[in-house]
Amino acid sequence: MASVEQSNEKTWQMYLCHLPTNTWSSSSFTACRLPSPSHLNSQLVSKGSEPSTCFLLLIHCPLVDAHQPKFEAVLSEVDILLNDLTFTISNLSSWMQPESASTNLATKLDDCFIRREPLGVVLIIGSWNYPLQLLLLPMVGAIAAGNCVILKPSEVSATTGSLVAELVPKYLSQECYAVIRGGAEETQELLKNRFDHIFFTGSKGVARSILQAASLHFTPVTLELGGKSPCVVYGPVNMTAAARRLVWAKFFNAGQSCVAPDYILCTSSTRDLLLPALKEALWEFYGEDPRTCPDLCRIVSPQHWTRLRALLEKTRGRIVIGGESDQEDKYMAPTVVVDVSEDDALMAEEILGPILPILSVESVEEAIALINRGQKPLALYVFSEESSVVKTVLEKTSSGGFCSNDGIVHMTLPSLPFGGVGASGWGSYHGRWGFETFSHRRACMLRGWALERFNTLRYPPYSDGKLGW
Ligand code: NAD
Repeated sequence: MASVEQSNEKTWQMYLCHLPTNTWSSSSFTACRLPSPSHLNSQLVSKGSEPSTCFLLLIHCPLVDAHQPKFEAVLSEVDILLNDLTFTISNLSSWMQPESASTNLATKLDDCFIRREPLGVVLIIGSWNYPLQLLLLPMVGAIAAGNCVILKPSEVSATTGSLVAELVPKYLSQECYAVIRGGAEETQELLKNRFDHIFFTGSKGVARSILQAASLHFTPVTLELGGKSPCVVYGPVNMTAAARRLVWAKFFNAGQSCVAPDYILCTSSTRDLLLPALKEALWEFYGEDPRTCPDLCRIVSPQHWTRLRALLEKTRGRIVIGGESDQEDKYMAPTVVVDVSEDDALMAEEILGPILPILSVESVEEAIALINRGQKPLALYVFSEESSVVKTVLEKTSSGGFCSNDGIVHMTLPSLPFGGVGASGWGSYHGRWGFETFSHRRACMLRGWALERFNTLRYPPYSDGKLGW
């Protein structure tokens, strides 16, 4: 990749030297492509300690980019990753078995099966909000499926990026795995290469340019995007429990989660019951002055803080909880805004921060209609003690994931696919779904030489009646 070698970026050069040859080209990666999933799978299964040792080392290092509380960092960056890794290692040998396919009369004697094969070289581009998880969890699926992997961490979470770049080549084979650091310009340069799959986590705008670059090489792409994940609170609800679960899901990582409840839809009478419960839960979790609470994360960068502050200044809604912020400290108090209308600034974009707007609706049907006017969200939540309400919302909407009476937790299960639908993303991963995303399902028919006489039925000369017409 001459253009990159000419660049003065030290980081690039440093990591390029870890690649199989000193010249970067897609053919050098093709050369290091693994012969079959079993090669790597057996490495993972029999020497299972190698990859997990690497992951363990990564997670014991401090995560300083967003001053995430240790508990939140361990839960969201470490436990979820190790959980997926353990699940994958336990199930991999069954996932990788050839899957037999049913046959018909004409193929009765053939051996028909689907064989999972590695795609080749996979590029994983990560986002900043869970900088380890969003790189390494897809990597588990990619390794399990037998691929070589290039990781491109987000430049916003630079500390984690440099840690990943330091440790991955140290503990994983440099023949198969590499880390390339950089921002938009460097990623665009990287995308000029031919990859066999691109796995992108990030914003919709950047996703468009990823698709454009991928289209030049017909590279398949998985997109893990965001959007506004709604939360309907309707009918009889245990307000104390609902408020605690909502506050946890919304203000975990200071709201900087792609699956955080983005806004609440409820009737004004429910809102009047919910608000004191939210206040109580916030007080219980973060105390009188959340700013001094070590369990509240900060906003990742000054730019992100400024964007969130601008949203609070533009809203025509009423701030009823929080609203305080400090630029120097990148602090923003957990904030709740009521009387928010559908055309408010807070509803124009994904919030991705500690601001929770509440919109009033008259009925569950009105809530569903409002949700369906927008793009399909990454997650959709409903809080209700009436199972008919949960069922109605589930059946009349579409979203990447769905969870009733809680938030975020559905994505911690490796047995459920994680991903969006439509504008919230294409494709999925976690557990078997990651293995499938990074595998090619090769349709195989092993045919012998028997029954040649029957083949004359399909050979010319054709004549009416040959096939019984
Ligand atoms: P982003 O799109 O700005 O950046 C994502 C990655 O793309 C980074 O590695 C960045 O270096 C790279 N990049 C930035 N500009 C680029 C360009 N012009 N060309 C090529 N690459 C470029 O997104 P972000 O700010 O890191 O993440 C926020 C978004 O990600 C939110 O929408 C959030 O919901 C979404 N997200 C989704 C998930 C999910 O799992 N679905 C998880 C986390 C975040």
